[in-house]
Amino acid sequence: MKAHIDLALCEGYANCVVEADRVFDIDEGTGQAVVLLADIPAELAEDARRARESCPVQAIRLDG
Ligand code: SF4
Repeated sequence: MKAHIDLALCEGYANCVVEADRVFDIDEGTGQAVVLLADIPAELAEDARRARESCPVQAIRLDG
């Protein structure tokens, strides 16, 4: 699974980091989310899905 952040939407609320801190972080320079893992392992897939659901602006897309 791969995660993609739409930076035109992300407003840095960090809900995604709360739900999946091994998958997402906030870049202190931009104040927006970054994806920490090029490939999200199966054991973190559920965290990544929760993060996607928690994003108030639907900026997270998960593929695969
Ligand atoms: S929850 Fe959404 S808006 Fe907030 S930092 Fe994560 S991707 Fe960006």
